[in-house]
Amino acid sequence: MYARLYELNVGRVPLVLLHTNIPENTPQDRELTDKLYISDPELRISQEMLLGVGGLRALQRLGHNPAIFHMNEGHSAFLALERMRQLVEKGHTLDEAKEAVKKTSVFTTHTPVPAGNDEFPTWLIDKYFANYWSSLGLDRNKFMDLAKVKTDWSDEVFSMPVLALRLSDYRNGVSKLHGEVSRNMWQYLWPDRNPEEVPISYITNGVHTGTWIARRLSDLYDKYLGVDWTERLDDPDMWERIEAIPDNELWQVRIHLKRKLVSYMVARARGEWEHDRVHPVQTVASGVLLDPLALTIGFARRFATYKRANLVFKDYERLMKIVTDEEHPVQIIFAGKAHPADEPGKRLIQEVYRHVKSSRNGGRLVFLDDYDMDMARHLVQGVDIWLNTPRRPREASGTSGMKAGMNGTLNFSVLDGWWAEGFNGKNGWAIGDNRHYEDPDLQDEADALSLYETLENEIVPMYYTKRSADGLPGDWIERIKECIRTVSPQFSMTRMVKEYMTDLYQPALETARAEVQVKADN
Ligand SMILES: *Cc1c(COP(=O)(O)O)cnc(C)c1O
Repeated sequence: MYARLYELNVGRVPLVLLHTNIPENTPQDRELTDKLYISDPELRISQEMLLGVGGLRALQRLGHNPAIFHMNEGHSAFLALERMRQLVEKGHTLDEAKEAVKKTSVFTTHTPVPAGNDEFPTWLIDKYFANYWSSLGLDRNKFMDLAKVKTDWSDEVFSMPVLALRLSDYRNGVSKLHGEVSRNMWQYLWPDRNPEEVPISYITNGVHTGTWIARRLSDLYDKYLGVDWTERLDDPDMWERIEAIPDNELWQVRIHLKRKLVSYMVARARGEWEHDRVHPVQTVASGVLLDPLALTIGFARRFATYKRANLVFKDYERLMKIVTDEEHPVQIIFAGKAHPADEPGKRLIQEVYRHVKSSRNGGRLVFLDDYDMDMARHLVQGVDIWLNTPRRPREASGTSGMKAGMNGTLNFSVLDGWWAEGFNGKNGWAIGDNRHYEDPDLQDEADALSLYETLENEIVPMYYTKRSADGLPGDWIERIKECIRTVSPQFSMTRMVKEYMTDLYQPALETARAEVQVKADN
């Protein structure tokens, strides 16, 4: 099989893309890179061989010779095998090759549940790797042993994260809580260690401030945070200057952003209406009756069942009372897509949409389809509250709440993923506490109750009734400032990249260099 290579420069970083739709390939191979989410394991193993084995060869062909390799999730783990194979081919023993690969490999896991991990039936490994193991000097059994897992729910499989964990000396999860979950989940690979001694650390995700911050806000930051603020994004001291922003100026920007979001939705709805593609109910459901001054909640993400988009509907009558309150109404905007193979996820969208279409909510519930980055930007910047209701601890990190937080949109979220370490009691709200219920129904019940109580007793009154003479919600604005001050530095991409460098890449580089030095000295 052949692949066409593209090399793009993203800032100072070369990005290499591979695709197979070229005349040299068979019709089947030409389609291999058409689709990202495929469930057919045979196509998936072919894609992952292209990425792992082909990816390394592509880098080499383009003249790149990296000292450290970072595998992000198990999909790329064949990379480590190909690196070993090349070292063996050059005359190293298998053990030497394995040690060299481990010392220079970083692996980041993103999946907090065993069943979510990438694995292949052994017959597929037989089909695609029968020639490969001999080139490593291994027989079939020894090769399978590299990544063999026997799970409760399936036969023996070849597990990509196990392969990556075994062939990397540097391993991490993507939030503090996810690090802990990962150490427990993979403890069986280190049978003589306690979970807390399992060598998997964490580096919490971050988001790229420049991509997600609203223009009006960054203008305000230019004015009050000092000209160098974009150079110090991960510096908590710099963000202390947020206190210098006058309340009314910050509030005017927040009002502007919500108006902009409403205009965006109306323009979309008008476009669909003009092109005669929709029923009037759909037009109402896409946000034309929204009030730009009312308290507005956003919920936008992939519709996977563990994210519980329907949790807010648990007590429908109670929700309707909150939403349609005459003086203090609450609006909720939902947006998202389901994974193409996720039938329960699609049913969840249907359930939410059924509630949104009902006239009972007075047009205050909205569903936006075709969720993409542009829509995400309008939502995280424009709503007042960012709602997140995953079933703990399924949200490894989550990032949309970080985007919201650095725009002063307050998080109202289950203490899962990044929010478990981001919430400080004053910079947003928690749903539920750290208690874990074995019975998922009880968990839903407790979380829904907490959600309604906090909304009714804290969030709605703070937004509407605690207003000063000039109409400013002082407590709310104080919370916005606390949110921007704490979330922006801690969950910036700058902080994250620095941690990857100091905690993983640099130590790996130094060890690798020391080894080379020792060899040279001998
Ligand atoms: C940030 C973002 C996500 C991730 O959101 P989560 O809340 O972490 O699930 C998904 N889709 C789009 C378009 C995004 O911008």
